[in-house]
Amino acid sequence: MAHVISDECVSCGACEAECPVSAISQGADHYQIDADACVDCGACAAQCPTGAISQG
Ligand code: SF4
Repeated sequence: MAHVISDECVSCGACEAECPVSAISQGADHYQIDADACVDCGACAAQCPTGAISQG
């Protein structure tokens, strides 16, 4: 499993630096998580101001 970023993302970038495996990057519409790289630690979800990140 991996965490996922929903359409509630406002592309603030707060989560990107928190990821220990650099799985988060800016996508076409909003930030996205590389499911193959994510280790499901949850560090990013705690930083999101809109609650857009959840366990997939
Ligand atoms: Fe990175 Fe952890 Fe978020 Fe997965 S859950 S994207 S490993 S910070």
